Amino acid sequence: MNNQTLADTLRSRGISPTQQRLAVYQYLLDHRTHPTADTVYQALVAEYPTISRTTVYNTMRALFGAGLLRIVTIDAEEQHFDADTADHGHFRCTKCGSLFDFTLPANASQRLAPNGYHTEIFDVYATGVCPHCQSN
Ligand SMILES: [Zn+2]
Ligand SMILES: [Zn+2]
Repeated sequence: MNNQTLADTLRSRGISPTQQRLAVYQYLLDHRTHPTADTVYQALVAEYPTISRTTVYNTMRALFGAGLLRIVTIDAEEQHFDADTADHGHFRCTKCGSLFDFTLPANASQRLAPNGYHTEIFDVYATGVCPHCQSN
């Protein structure tokens, strides 16, 4: 997405597209590694010396509130953020700490939610050891 498209996306969700907010959203679109707010802050502060941890965190909360991000709470210590808002599962490796995406069966949220309930957020979490760590 170019900057203009990104700005329009934020504007259409009621978020004023400042340079720093655009940088946060762009970073999350480019890095599908489920970063924490601190990781995003560390990555952006070199280019945006005036950015603060609070700005990064508040921007991510606002993007989440606008439906542009998912918050992954598989890790009790820290929230991770994901620009992929389509339903998918997350696997956390207890050895390397990485979060991996996995595909869910089609319409899993509708099929598994109880009848008569409208699901807004559907999270599937698994924890274990990734293939890389198993071979070490
Ligand atoms: Zn691992
Ligand atoms: Zn994900």
